[in-house]
Amino acid sequence: MALDCETLVIGAGPAGLTAAMYLARYRRDVLVVHDGTARALRIPLTHNVPGFPEGVCGTDLLARMTEHATEYGARLHKALVTGLKRTANGFTAQLDDGGAITARGVVLATGIWLNEVDLPREVHEQAIKDDVLRYCPICDAYEHSGREIAVLGADLHGAAEAMFLRQYSDKVTLIPAWSDDLDADQHHELDDSDITVLRGRVTAIEPDADGITVHLAGRDSTASSHRFGILYPAFGVTPRTDLAVKLGLEVNEDGRLGALTHMKAEIPGFYAAGDIVEGLDQISVAMGHGAVAATKLHNYLRDEDDHVMSDQRPVD
Ligand SMILES: Cc1cc2nc3c(=O)[nH]c(=O)nc-3n(C[C@H](O)[C@H](O)[C@H](O)COP(=O)(O)OP(=O)(O)OC[C@H]3O[C@@H](n4cnc5c(N)ncnc54)[C@H](O)[C@@H]3O)c2cc1C
Repeated sequence: MALDCETLVIGAGPAGLTAAMYLARYRRDVLVVHDGTARALRIPLTHNVPGFPEGVCGTDLLARMTEHATEYGARLHKALVTGLKRTANGFTAQLDDGGAITARGVVLATGIWLNEVDLPREVHEQAIKDDVLRYCPICDAYEHSGREIAVLGADLHGAAEAMFLRQYSDKVTLIPAWSDDLDADQHHELDDSDITVLRGRVTAIEPDADGITVHLAGRDSTASSHRFGILYPAFGVTPRTDLAVKLGLEVNEDGRLGALTHMKAEIPGFYAAGDIVEGLDQISVAMGHGAVAATKLHNYLRDEDDHVMSDQRPVD
């Protein structure tokens, strides 16, 4: 099936749905294509989306954002985009259902994958719902203030995360997942901040409704078990940049696109938004990116259609 649209938004998370709503209100024909894997769908209740002091569940937020975008005419199509290329008239996206989409311009809002602890899928997702396993202290450390907090991953990234969490609790423990990669000075810094560093290697992680138990094996075959209120694995993320890379864009040292504003010069009509761009990984940031990317795409199309004053060119 071939689908034509004026503007294509890839991704139906907070970034993509904001871009779609803005484009629709700029009276652009908008098609949002997504594969149903928005990270925002996994949020049981977020407390830091402005305007929701009582919190909002990720599925409810995206349902309302979808309603908002479709109210103004945006269409949604569920499929995985497997290819994206620039053509003489714009872009063609290939879909895993055999279809293709042509568009004059694209907003890419494909987000990131979390690098997760190795637990059976249903156990992992239940632990997130039970609030005993989380990946983003900026999102929810406030809700765990004063608890026994553990960070998994004794490298600089893990140590930095433990230091960040120290603001929320004086019971923060750093656990090596496989090995302790910190030097003596870094251990001293953690010690000075009263952060405990365990020794050993994780052999099992057992979440339940009230907390999470981490089992460790020591060098001398001793085993120990440690109980926490919440565990934050610090394993980083894998940005979903494959489509941008197929277009010829480079990723930065974080594996992300780094900016949504320089795209026009490199690939005219292509913009990016949300977690794929930079690393705060927040809904409010994704929404802001979506609004900016949509506006830049709209202005690019106005420029193409000669609907701008000549002394304002190039429009950005
Ligand atoms: C458990 C949890 C709790 C969180 N709590 C908070 C919180 O309290 N506050 C907060 O601000 N943030 C929170 N976050 C982070 C927040 O979910 C993300 O920052 C936000 O969703 C990023 O929006 P996005 O639109 O960039 O990406 P996403 O929401 O991940 O959406 C990406 C979209 O791209 C689509 N997609 C990707 N690749 C393709 C492809 N090839 N083809 C088709 N579609 C594709 C996906 O289907 C999806 O629709 C949390 C995340 C998790 C997992």
